[in-house]
Amino acid sequence: MSSPYIEVDLAKIRHNAHTFVEQLSRRGINTTGVTKAICGHPAIAQVMLDAGVVGLAEARISNVKRLRHAGMTCPITLIRTPMLTQVDQVVEFCTASYNTQLIVIAALASAARRRNKVHGIILMVEMGDRREGIMPNDLASIAHQVKMMRGVTLLGIGANFACLSGIAPDTTKMAALSLLANETEQCNGVFLAHVSGGNSANLPWAFSDKTVGRINDLRLGEAILLGVDPLSGEPISGLFTDAFTLFAEVIETHPNAIIEGSDTDFFCDRHPCTSNQQNTKRLLLALGHQDIDILGLEMPHGNTFIGATSDHLVISQRAPALNVGASLAFQINYSALMRAMAAPDIEIRLLTDQPLSVPLRTPNMNQRKHVRSLHA
Ligand SMILES: *Cc1c(COP(=O)(O)O)cnc(C)c1O
Repeated sequence: MSSPYIEVDLAKIRHNAHTFVEQLSRRGINTTGVTKAICGHPAIAQVMLDAGVVGLAEARISNVKRLRHAGMTCPITLIRTPMLTQVDQVVEFCTASYNTQLIVIAALASAARRRNKVHGIILMVEMGDRREGIMPNDLASIAHQVKMMRGVTLLGIGANFACLSGIAPDTTKMAALSLLANETEQCNGVFLAHVSGGNSANLPWAFSDKTVGRINDLRLGEAILLGVDPLSGEPISGLFTDAFTLFAEVIETHPNAIIEGSDTDFFCDRHPCTSNQQNTKRLLLALGHQDIDILGLEMPHGNTFIGATSDHLVISQRAPALNVGASLAFQINYSALMRAMAAPDIEIRLLTDQPLSVPLRTPNMNQRKHVRSLHA
C-alpha cells in the first residue's frame, strides 16, 4: 500500500460527463473532454469518451503522448498554443490544435506535409480574457492565410474565458463570437465546422434561455471532474463533486497542549490557543507542498488546518483523533487536483463499476461495484 493516494471514482466522472453530453446536445453543442487537470490519465479520459464526449483536448504534448501510448485513437486537440519547437510532435500526436501565431501554423503545415498529413487548425480569438487569442480585427486575414497553406486545414474558431482575468462569457460576447464565425466564412469562402465557445465557465451561458448562435462546442474539464462552476466555486446541481478523494497518512499524533517556549508563541500567534484545544490532538500527515496545493484541500469536519511545509501537513483534530498509520480523506479543488495528479509520490487508484468500452494498455483499475447516491 502506498500513501498518499488519490481515489478516482470513474462512475461519478462518467455520470458528470454524460450529464453535460446530454444537456448540451439538446442545445446543439458538442462536449469536448479536457484532460489537462488529470495529466492525460488514459482511463479517466476513456470514461469521458464512453460518456459521449466527441473528443479530448489537452494543453501539453507530454499528456497527449500518454493518451496515445495507452492506445487511444480518438480525436485529440491541443488547446494550448503549440510551441514552435514541438510542431513535429503536435502533428504526429494531435488531430488539431488551437493557434494564434502564423509562424507556428506555417511550421505545423510543413511538419504535416513532411508526414503526408493534414493538421487541423482552430483559430483562437481574444474575447476579453487577455490570455491567448487573435484580435478579432485580424481574424479574417489570418484565416485567409491559413486557408492558402497546404498541410493544414481551417476547422474553426474558438474563444476562451475566465482563465486569466476571470471575465465571464456573457450573451453579448457569445453573440460576437457567432458573428465573427459568420464574417470569417463570408470574407474567405470557407466553412467553419467548429465554433468552440469556451470552457466550464461557459455553462451558465449555455444553459440560459439565450440562443447559442453558431457555438457548437464547449471544452469541459473542471465541471466534469469536480462538478463545480469554476467562477463561483458552487456545486452544479445533479453532479458529483466528490469523484476524487485524497488520502494522506498520519505519521505523528500529539496532545494539543500549550508548550512553554518559543514554538508556543508560534502556534498561539497564528492560531489562538483556546481551552477548546483540550479536546483536540495535533496530527502530522505525510503530505506537503511538494505533492499538492495544500490550500486546495477541504478540511473534513472536526479538523483545522494549522500549517504545512514541503513534506508535512499539520492539523488539529477533534477527539477521538486518528492514530498513527490511519489515513484522513480530503476533498480537493481544481488547483489541488491538477498538482496531485502530476505528483510522482501520489498513487492513483481507480474505482469503477464497469469495464472501459475499449481495452487500454495499463488501465490499472480496481473493479469494485458500488452504489452511492448524489449528495445535495
Ligand atoms: C483549461 C482549458 C479549458 C478547460 O477549462 P475548464 O475550466 O477545466 O473547463 C478549455 N479551454 C482551454 C483553452 C483551456 O486552457
